[in-house]
Amino acid sequence: MSPPVVSLTPPDTSGSPVRVPASAPPVALSYELFPPRSAAAEHTLWSTIRELEATAPDYVSVTYGASGSNHDTAIDLITRLQRETLLRPLAHLTCVGNSEAALVDVVTQLLDHGVRGILALRGDLPRDGSPIPAGSLAYARDLVELIRQVEQQRSALLCAGKVAIGVAAYPTRHPESPSEAHDIEVLLAKQRAGADFAITQVFFHPEQYANLLVRARRAGVTIPLIPGVMPLTSVRRLKRLAELSGVAPHEELLDRLERAGDAAEQQRIGVQATVDLANAALDAGAQGLHIYTFNEHRHALDVLDRLSLPRPKRPLHSRDEAMVS
Ligand code: FAD
Repeated sequence: MSPPVVSLTPPDTSGSPVRVPASAPPVALSYELFPPRSAAAEHTLWSTIRELEATAPDYVSVTYGASGSNHDTAIDLITRLQRETLLRPLAHLTCVGNSEAALVDVVTQLLDHGVRGILALRGDLPRDGSPIPAGSLAYARDLVELIRQVEQQRSALLCAGKVAIGVAAYPTRHPESPSEAHDIEVLLAKQRAGADFAITQVFFHPEQYANLLVRARRAGVTIPLIPGVMPLTSVRRLKRLAELSGVAPHEELLDRLERAGDAAEQQRIGVQATVDLANAALDAGAQGLHIYTFNEHRHALDVLDRLSLPRPKRPLHSRDEAMVS
């Protein structure tokens, strides 16, 4: 067989710019996990991780307590994910209550563990209203800048992959913010500081995400805004989340869930509502989907099954098998 002919003539770039063929781009898929608080919770979490791994997500995010309260269990989980699975961790990191020096240490530790994705967050303020220690970073934007500085200092070590930085975005006004317009200004500032993408807070009405996209794009936010959706199957969790996040729950959905005849009907209603919400976000232009799993896989996978997301083909074998073969 004759060797393929390689043209040494550079392609003609004088005309219109090169275009990527217009096939439907794949939709990014990710899950949120939180570090387990007990040995029993850890056991359950690992069953969940194996189930989620089989769906070949692009990354799984690992939450971090405000002020770093669960620093050790978060690092342990990230390390195990790196060592024992094919999953790529996205490490959440909060800055409130932490000094710059302490945060540089954590970022360095994450990079040394091979982490290449960090979700830079401020973290929630102390519930008792106690003052933030002097010298701690005030806003997520400051943390984005700090991560980029650490990355810069270690650029020779990162030749095979820079750090992807995510930030939070809000389809409904952040509880401390004066307006939704202010939230967009903050998002733009985080993008300018070096954020690559954002994941949204939970939302319950499709137009809230669609409006966020329109307002953000108009203001000059160009990074992907990945909708964060939770399986809407538990009344207790919906109410608790509303308390914690300040996002008003979907009253009609709550009512339907409460009136459901049994657990199976409740799950059917909740899964369908989540699928409808996710589909509406994708129709509005979402480039990915981030599922808040609460460390449970069943309803997350029920939702995924019904979505038929266009996904890239990935090997499904585990890291151990991959190393043997
Ligand atoms: P920021 O972007 O800093 O905004 C915080 C507030 O300050 C907003 O009201 C904003 O309007 C205001 N603000 C920002 N910059 C300025 C400025 N320059 N001047 C005046 N006002 C300003 N919390 C955790 O503790 N651990 C987690 O793992 C975690 N994961 C999360 C994941 C996602 C996807 C999301 C959406 C939230 C998560 N949170 C987590 C919650 C988050 O920490 C809270 O919502 C927090 O209150 C705000 O964080 P932020 O990163 O949006 O902060």
